[in-house]
Amino acid sequence: MDFNPAAIGRAPGRVNLIGEHTDYNAGLCLPLALPRAASAAVAPRPDGSLDLRSESFEDPWRGNVEDLAPGTVSGWAGYVTGVLWALRQSGLDVPGLDVRVDSDVPIGAGLSSSAALECAVAVAVAGLLDLPLSEKVRTRLAHVCVRAETEYVGAPTGGMDQTVAMLATEGSALLIDFDDDTTRDVPLPLAEEGLTLVVTDTGVTHDHATGGYAERRQECEAAARALGVASLRRASPADLDGLDDEVLRRRARHVVTENARVTDAVDAIGRRDWPALGLLLDASHLSLRDEFEVSCPELDLAVVTAREAGALGARMTGGGFGGSVVSLVPEERASAVTTALDVAFAAAGLAAPAHLTATASGGASAG
Ligand code: ADP
Ligand code: MG
Repeated sequence: MDFNPAAIGRAPGRVNLIGEHTDYNAGLCLPLALPRAASAAVAPRPDGSLDLRSESFEDPWRGNVEDLAPGTVSGWAGYVTGVLWALRQSGLDVPGLDVRVDSDVPIGAGLSSSAALECAVAVAVAGLLDLPLSEKVRTRLAHVCVRAETEYVGAPTGGMDQTVAMLATEGSALLIDFDDDTTRDVPLPLAEEGLTLVVTDTGVTHDHATGGYAERRQECEAAARALGVASLRRASPADLDGLDDEVLRRRARHVVTENARVTDAVDAIGRRDWPALGLLLDASHLSLRDEFEVSCPELDLAVVTAREAGALGARMTGGGFGGSVVSLVPEERASAVTTALDVAFAAAGLAAPAHLTATASGGASAG
């Protein structure tokens, strides 16, 4: 390290177990924090200047904290300056800084490297400003990081990633309700039950700042408007018949049924009914593939292959158009599943996928 950090923040990536494309529809989701995380080290600079570096990117970024404004910084540094801008917008007196970031969350793999980075920076700056990491501060920082990503970077994502990165508890998934902005720990005793969550990165990357994600969000808003409801959370399955537009009806059907699947998944976990949880993962994938249309051939191949090799259920996870698949697998089938995925990808002429085991980890921490 080429400087003495005054504060350090660390925040995890996440895998979403179920509840996809629901966060921006005032819906329900059930992510867990990964053992992979980003870290940020910060030290104040007296002249208001900023010097940002990432181990993952060659180019440093330099500027001034007073000049930060949405849409002015592109590339990776936008995520860091976005957090500094949003912290200032929230009333905090952020000084000039050296910022050094590092991460072992795969980038663009649907495992939320972006929110891990944002939350690590936010926690580091909070430490510098002597803010204790209380539940209230964590929630405030999660909102700051959402603003950084949506308003400053311009990626119209919901709040799932930042919320779980800030608020997750080790050993539990986090049930998030975006209707009333509440969260609840859902203990996930998978190891105890001889089960594991295998996460497979297909290597197909996506970019949420452009393209299909924004379009889906607009379609959901259009569907809610056509139904005369504030959000799709307020729509029932029966209401969907009232949508004349066939595409909007399918988008809305995904969101409405996905919210129900999250509730059912929480029940299944509570009953330790793992086959039922597996079937819910499968149903979520089919809905994302056929109704919401955010899957891709590589994700579909991974889901089918994992299932055939012994997974109890599997689905794409994250925003889609590439990224990762999460599979619920009996421990003794885990290596058979990853081998089958490697073989299937090779047979299809695709690059080897990367696998990791998701154990429910804790949220952001200082130091
Ligand atoms: P995901 O969050 O699913 O990994 P996103 O497209 O939302 O994918 O965010 C990826 C972007 O976040 C990267 O292109 C980069 O700009 C930024 N990013 C993530 N990790 C790092 C890092 N370690 N250093 C710098 N920028 C990073
Ligand atoms: Mg992201």
